[in-house]
Amino acid sequence: MERITQNGKTDIKSLTLKELKEEVSAMGEKPFRAKQMYEWMHKKLVRDFSEMSNLSKSFREACEKRYAYTALIPVREQESRIDGTKKFLFELSDGNLVESVWMRYKHGNSVCISSQVGCRMGCRFCASTLDGLERSLLPSEMLDQIYAITLLTGERVSNVVVMGTGEPMDNYDNLLRFLELLTDANGLNISQRNVTVSTCGIVPRMRQLAEEKLQITLALSLHAPTDEKRRKLMPVANQYSLTELMDACAYYFEQTGRRITFEYSLVAGVNDNKEEARELSDLIGHLNCHVNLIPVNPIEERDYKESSRAAVLAFQKELEKNKINVTIRREMGRDIDGACGQLRRRHTKKTVEDLTC
Ligand code: SAH
Repeated sequence: MERITQNGKTDIKSLTLKELKEEVSAMGEKPFRAKQMYEWMHKKLVRDFSEMSNLSKSFREACEKRYAYTALIPVREQESRIDGTKKFLFELSDGNLVESVWMRYKHGNSVCISSQVGCRMGCRFCASTLDGLERSLLPSEMLDQIYAITLLTGERVSNVVVMGTGEPMDNYDNLLRFLELLTDANGLNISQRNVTVSTCGIVPRMRQLAEEKLQITLALSLHAPTDEKRRKLMPVANQYSLTELMDACAYYFEQTGRRITFEYSLVAGVNDNKEEARELSDLIGHLNCHVNLIPVNPIEERDYKESSRAAVLAFQKELEKNKINVTIRREMGRDIDGACGQLRRRHTKKTVEDLTC
């Protein structure tokens, strides 16, 4: 299989242990060296070859010449004064920037990672897509957001959500490889059940993912109960209808036994009235699912306003009346550009004031 490269060199942190063994033997080293190296990279989280102290100096130097070693550079860190949520901005080897969020919950620490630099999906309320897609992230670049945050916070990450900038299903092969490495027992060993991948709804990829039969949670960004309304918020709705989407969700459950999560951002006067809650109940009522309601986080480039507390509660009540599982998501990190793509965008525009505590 063709290797993933960076600047013409094989990207060593994107290799599976099996592939690494092949590489190591091709370099004339014993196969067990591969396991040692893999652990240095994915368990001990070292940032370059020189730290791999049980490998010979000559081997480390040969690796340095031969491979690209992904280690994201932290450029900014902001901490919420409200809830301790931290937002990190990292620089990639080509100078691009990505952001990730760290959240502390009762059940453990959760990291929200980006899957692309920018996004081409065009959702109207989202800051990540305003400048379009720059490029997709490599598996190692998705992983290293978690590794770098583990090192910076000094705390173990137990949950990962692929819900930052980018559309993971638009970077499908790299996403799958990332998931394989993330949940590998020889690496961070994060349980598949503690991983969520969120999509705007690319139906063929959702079906493909279902067939991988992973135990991860699939979250679908729904945001509207009818095709007509959804098309106004999300251009992807012109490509796939709600009927096709609901079938894909049912298929995911059928294949994996995992309940679907629906993300629904409430926008004042756009998708948040009682009638819309009823329509939503009719749409999803037959599925084994859970709804996350979150008031939209307004971005300055668009005129969308968040729903009032009363509207959010009324929407929730209506869903519950129809026996739908629903949670109002805590709005983490509102004071630190918590919504997708806001920090990177501000940093790039150089208009940000230092919010770091
Ligand atoms: N592309 C994927 C994952 C990234 S977006 C997807 O669409 O699911 C992660 C979630 O944040 C999505 O549900 C998205 O619709 C939502 N989102 C983006 N901008 C937002 C904003 N300003 N306020 C509230 N939710 C937002």
